[in-house]
Amino acid sequence: MKKYKVIKCINCGKISVTFAEKVFRCTYCNKTCKFIKKRQIGLSVNILKSFDNPRQATEFCKIAKDKLKNKGKLANSGFYEN
Ligand SMILES: [Zn+2]
Repeated sequence: MKKYKVIKCINCGKISVTFAEKVFRCTYCNKTCKFIKKRQIGLSVNILKSFDNPRQATEFCKIAKDKLKNKGKLANSGFYEN
């Protein structure tokens, strides 16, 4: 996992960047979520993509927000990193 993560909040759906390692706190709704390892099921943080470079992460965050605004959803676009 790279340091800077672009995350979609499971509670409010807003996208933001974090460099937290274990727990993410949404800056919009203040909800905290733990990061999960792959294959774990349940409520978790949606990591869209991760980066080593904070500028790249911020750029991606902007793009993701635009996509969300334009299309209403990110699914079916190959957008998720998996
Ligand atoms: Zn939120």
